[in-house]
Amino acid sequence: MQNPVEAFLTSVEEQKIIEAIRVAEQQTSGEIRVHIETTSKGNLESRALEVFSVLKMHNTALRNAVLIYVAVNDKAFCIYGDKGINALVSSSFWDDTKNIIQQHFVNRNYKQGLIDGIFSAGEQLKTHFPFAENDTDELSNTISKG
Ligand code: CA
Ligand code: CA
Repeated sequence: MQNPVEAFLTSVEEQKIIEAIRVAEQQTSGEIRVHIETTSKGNLESRALEVFSVLKMHNTALRNAVLIYVAVNDKAFCIYGDKGINALVSSSFWDDTKNIIQQHFVNRNYKQGLIDGIFSAGEQLKTHFPFAENDTDELSNTISKG
């Protein structure tokens, strides 16, 4: 049987998601990444935090990276933003993005859920972290897998 993480997206879909990250990051200094793995073993939020740390996503000047974490077999995901974001926003900040992803995931449109979620996250981040002239790609635009 095919690995569920590998089966989650086709390589073409992955490329489209990576392109969405690149485009979204053209309007904000925030950095967006996606991580996909089989299961969080029942600890969705703490596992997302752990992955955030493993991926060294705190290595941004403004502490404004956001991780979209997906646990395929759990049919669960969460959005984890760094402390530079949390210092400025309310706990409902990611609700719109969560809802967008959820609506697509319910219909098994995983690619579109992630793409629309990435664009939504970029729009959200833009309000607090506008794109700067001297922007660099602080965190590479890749999908990581656990
Ligand atoms: Ca950047
Ligand atoms: Ca990036």
